[in-house]
Amino acid sequence: MGVDNPLGENIITTSLDALVNWSRKSSIWPMTFGLACCAIEMMATGASHHDLDRFGIIFRASPRQSDCIIIAGTVTKKMLPVIKTVYEQMPEPKWVIAMGACACSGGIFDTYSVIQGIDEALPVDVYIPGCPPRPEALLFGLMKLQDKIMREKNSFGSAIGLGDRYDSAAA
Ligand code: SF4
Repeated sequence: MGVDNPLGENIITTSLDALVNWSRKSSIWPMTFGLACCAIEMMATGASHHDLDRFGIIFRASPRQSDCIIIAGTVTKKMLPVIKTVYEQMPEPKWVIAMGACACSGGIFDTYSVIQGIDEALPVDVYIPGCPPRPEALLFGLMKLQDKIMREKNSFGSAIGLGDRYDSAAA
């Protein structure tokens, strides 16, 4: 699949991309949103001992102000429409983290009522295994997301409506 990058790559556009990517990765604002036990670990990660603020990661209480959603917990079929609505209310650019075995694959709940992985509904950027993952694992996953954001191309162009941003590793 080709990529749409009308500005091309030169010293100016790649420098602007790097600046945009650096500002985005330094200010990831996840939704205040949890589903089950994994959310407790997510809350612990945001608290003083692990301190997400030092990465510029600050939870927001509105999808309108968020650019990341951490799916922390079991996704039931009843909850999925709500998750989709919250995701659709988030402005671009936005990223998705699947935190824990339940969000990645349904975990131990191979039942009629549980979605077998949030990637059936949302485009997941980072998967974090574990039941539950410890705060260190979530921190590592967030740093992986920062790496992914820094790899994005045409970030500046897409911000002014020219083409789409894309992951240089996947292009
Ligand atoms: S992965 Fe484990 S800890 Fe996380 S929501 Fe599922 S059962 Fe709970």
